[in-house]
Amino acid sequence: MLAFAAPAATQTADVQDLGHGIYRAAGVMGGAAVRVPQSNTFMIVTRDGNVIVDTSIAAAAPAHKRALTAVNGGPIKAIILTHAHGDHTGGVAQWKQPSTEVIAQRLHEDFMAYQLRLRGYFARSNAAQFGLGAGGGGAVGAAAASPAPPTVLFEDRYAFELGGVKFELLHTPGETPDHLTVWIPAFKAAFIGDNFYESFPNLYTLRGTETRKALDYVESLNTVLALEPELVLPSHGPAIKGRDEIQRRLTRYRDAILYVHDATVKGMNEGKSVLALMREISLPPALDVGESYGKLTWSVRGIYEGYVGWYDGNVSTMFGPPSQVYEEIVKLAGGPDAVAARAQQLVATDAMRALYLTDMALAVDARHRPALEVRLAALRWLDTHSNNSNERGWLAAGIRDAEARLKP
Ligand SMILES: [Zn+2]
Repeated sequence: MLAFAAPAATQTADVQDLGHGIYRAAGVMGGAAVRVPQSNTFMIVTRDGNVIVDTSIAAAAPAHKRALTAVNGGPIKAIILTHAHGDHTGGVAQWKQPSTEVIAQRLHEDFMAYQLRLRGYFARSNAAQFGLGAGGGGAVGAAAASPAPPTVLFEDRYAFELGGVKFELLHTPGETPDHLTVWIPAFKAAFIGDNFYESFPNLYTLRGTETRKALDYVESLNTVLALEPELVLPSHGPAIKGRDEIQRRLTRYRDAILYVHDATVKGMNEGKSVLALMREISLPPALDVGESYGKLTWSVRGIYEGYVGWYDGNVSTMFGPPSQVYEEIVKLAGGPDAVAARAQQLVATDAMRALYLTDMALAVDARHRPALEVRLAALRWLDTHSNNSNERGWLAAGIRDAEARLKP
């Protein structure tokens, strides 16, 4: 998950004592920009010093650090990064002391390089999705965080001991290729990072991502399930406690992902289009883990196009999208006024179709007032009826854009 919030230097974080010397700091970041839960910072206290798992975003890190060091001010011997998203790496510089080891999986550096290579793109898309001002995505994103590079990189497994506590790190790709899980066998505690949160996962995120492989999530969840943890600590949201409850919830989560994956693959092999499968695939009630963050339709498309890319077999698609003939269609319909009027008729009953019509009218005249007004109404209707934080982020971005174009 990639979660951003307005800077909150003066705010305080809540600390939760999870037993065994494990503490969780959770952000209490305010402001309208917060669309997703803040990422946690974990501290494991040992008699020879402390270990940090994930560091939250740069803006939240000072508050997390104040709250956790008030609990225990011991030296920070290691920082473990579950993956290279900015909401986990942003606070490394806050925490790192001269002798602190920074530990990550080998692909961490590749993933960091990928985000830096596309920093201009991600600055815009993060700003849109998370409701930040122009350039805000760059200011708080992974690209700007430039955390201290890892001092330890490992391939599949890495173990170390500190103050009598053994830490085992396992490569568990899922939300990112470099994702890892921290396992403390003595406490039966698994820090699962972003491979579990309280929503269907973002198998595709609208702000842009390389393919997130559904079967990686499945395998990584199996790895964690096989450890039989009694405490699971996701990097977003609350801890899950109790062996049976953990088995039940992680199994259901894995099965939900596998269900969507298998249904998509089956449909692909039967010759169904991505649109047909987006419409058709839904989770059976027993596997319905909610869609407050990830969304099934985008995930189906993410899996489909993750496997085969964008070409749909229709010969005209080779030359680009059909939006190239919107002007022709609008002309045939009698011009942008006529198209906007039809959108106006539809908006109360079918906001999505109204929205598509405004795309066509605005392709002819980007500042066409009636089309922009219907577009605003459609986007506001969709926003009111959405329970998905990422979808609402992009609807808000669309509303801001339409409002800006309506200004004289
Ligand atoms: Zn995250």
